[in-house]
Amino acid sequence: MSTSVVLPPAATQNTSNPLLIGSGLPPFSEIETSHVVPGIEQLLQELTQELHSVEAALQAKVESSPQTVPTWNELDALTAITERLGWSWGIINHLMGVKNSPDLRSAYESVQPNLVQFSNQISQSQIVYQALKRLRESDAWQDLTLAQQRIVEADLRDAELSGVGLSGERKATFNEIQQSLAELSTQFSNHVLDATKAFSLTLTEPEDVAGLPPSLLSLTAQAARDTGAEAATAADGPWRITLDMPSYVPFLRHAQRRDLREQIYRAFITRASSGDLDNAPLIEKILALRQQQAELLGFENYAELSLARKMAPSVAAVESLMEELRSASYDAATGELADIEAFAQAHKTLQSDPKADSKADEEPLKQWDIPFWTERMRETQFDLNDEALRPYFPLPKVLEGLFGLAERLFGIAISVADGQAPVWHPDVRYFQVANAADGKKIAYFYLDPYSRPAEKRGGAWMDECIVRAKESDGAVRLPVAYLVCNQSPPIDGKPSLMTFREVETLFHEFGHGLQHMLTRVDYAGAAGINNVEWDAVELPSQFMENWCYDRDTLFGMANHYATGEPLPEADYQKLLAARHFMTGSAILRQVRFGWLDIALHSQYRPGGSESVGEVSDRMAQKTAIMQPLPEDAFLCSFGHIFAGGYAAGYYSYFWAEVLSADAFSAFEEAGLENLDEVATMGRRFRDTVLALGGSRHPMEVFKTFRGRAPSTQALLRHRGLVSAA
Ligand SMILES: [Zn+2]
Repeated sequence: MSTSVVLPPAATQNTSNPLLIGSGLPPFSEIETSHVVPGIEQLLQELTQELHSVEAALQAKVESSPQTVPTWNELDALTAITERLGWSWGIINHLMGVKNSPDLRSAYESVQPNLVQFSNQISQSQIVYQALKRLRESDAWQDLTLAQQRIVEADLRDAELSGVGLSGERKATFNEIQQSLAELSTQFSNHVLDATKAFSLTLTEPEDVAGLPPSLLSLTAQAARDTGAEAATAADGPWRITLDMPSYVPFLRHAQRRDLREQIYRAFITRASSGDLDNAPLIEKILALRQQQAELLGFENYAELSLARKMAPSVAAVESLMEELRSASYDAATGELADIEAFAQAHKTLQSDPKADSKADEEPLKQWDIPFWTERMRETQFDLNDEALRPYFPLPKVLEGLFGLAERLFGIAISVADGQAPVWHPDVRYFQVANAADGKKIAYFYLDPYSRPAEKRGGAWMDECIVRAKESDGAVRLPVAYLVCNQSPPIDGKPSLMTFREVETLFHEFGHGLQHMLTRVDYAGAAGINNVEWDAVELPSQFMENWCYDRDTLFGMANHYATGEPLPEADYQKLLAARHFMTGSAILRQVRFGWLDIALHSQYRPGGSESVGEVSDRMAQKTAIMQPLPEDAFLCSFGHIFAGGYAAGYYSYFWAEVLSADAFSAFEEAGLENLDEVATMGRRFRDTVLALGGSRHPMEVFKTFRGRAPSTQALLRHRGLVSAA
């Protein structure tokens, strides 16, 4: 069957409020913060009406003939409602991430309660729930496709987890909790943003910035210029250090001044832990409300509720993976710390310590010393400096390499489409994805690459702008993705020069984007990342990171921005060797976060015998070689689990890494240098993991690709904890 293709239309439709257009590309240039409140209010009114008429139609049908079974199309009328809501709210959410402002925040906060209430109304609709159940139990069930069946089953489960079975006071309480949790998570994340912005340290003396690489001197001089010191230069300062990642991370790694590292480190670990921005009370409230919510739904604790939607079968299964990784990495991490200590002792003169007295020689390493000495040891062992490689990874060339890889693996051609879509900032790019073989258009994506601390949330992410679906006339609506990174911006007339880690991050987000864009599922409810279990969703993203170490891929993108010369072979060898540097510590750190998250959501009881801090300490005893400082308040900025979707789900990174490492090992077994085999395997990955998305259980998708269930062996080998067979 041939289908026509619906291109995302440009924003030319005529409506007084651009947030209500309801389909197509968001008209970013026309959207004002003042549109948010009236737009969402009007939309919710209209959608409530529509929901009532869908319910009335379903109800009328049952009343006329109780045995009647609703059709897929009748139930799909609800999709139209959630999609319209998703279109408008998705834009606002996106702008909260990339163009945050006090006005936007207050608009967001004022409409959020009504939005939560409306979402509850849909998911708690008895009429819809009963209709879904009748369909599930009818003979018509067998006529649905597997994708449709999985969507209905997910809808039933979500309705149950949204409290459809509750009534009276219990339902009212449940809904109040939902409201409070939504508000608390917004507050939590705003506090982190504000606390990060509130701190800066302006340095004026050359000895204060000793050791800092040129890129950081440029970045911090620019930060000083942005805040009024117009004459600031990279060479002469002043230099403004902030707690944003592109400033904080390299500062700790390179600043020779030990006292300044300590000052910055302490500021970082105490973000949002005092005064007006204190998140500690919010954490207590959030955990208490989640526990209460879980109990209302008949679960022992929130972790069980969270796992009801995930691939991992039980809390015990998660704990057992955490323990497997902990025991595989603990001794390695212990040895690594000892190595760092010995190295620091032998190279004391590399740092300056104005606070030191004669006894300071005996003082053991502190938390703020670890990144610095780790970096020095890495330089010595591998003669490899993150900063020195930057000139070989200019963004335009990295994109060329990434797109070339996507063509080799998946047979897709990516081309520049700037100007075909409105953007929210002049640095944002727009690209088209087509089938390389026949030029058929498949998808589009935005790329917002650079850090903009004043308005953009930290980290990197992929989000859906438009989800693929087959429309009622048979036309296919093409997917569009947002890829957002926070890498170093172009400075002093040079292109954005990326660290290797920033390159990996870009590949990672692009992997999410691939699953969103290369889906072949025709129903929005299971297309792309929709309906993919959360702990399986990092499979394509982490899979893509592996390619940064692949010879052909790396040399396809690593060219010096000024001279064009390729990355020296010796540096490539060093990158490979350095891959497993400090691997035990890196794994153990993530195990600590993942296990603590599960413990807080399964063992901690508000008002019980153990406080949040005590749970955290207990987990650190087990999973940290160097214990955190008593004032370490990292939970206060742990937005993943208190303001993002990772509550009782942080372990997902490892759960998915088992899958992604094992998937990549299929390519290794085929032979990475064997381009034909790699292409064949790539098409298979595209046809299974990327194409099927949420239309099958992730275990089934994985087995279809790999021919067997996943094994942890590839992860341990890739991470350098067991040697290659
Ligand atoms: Zn990811």
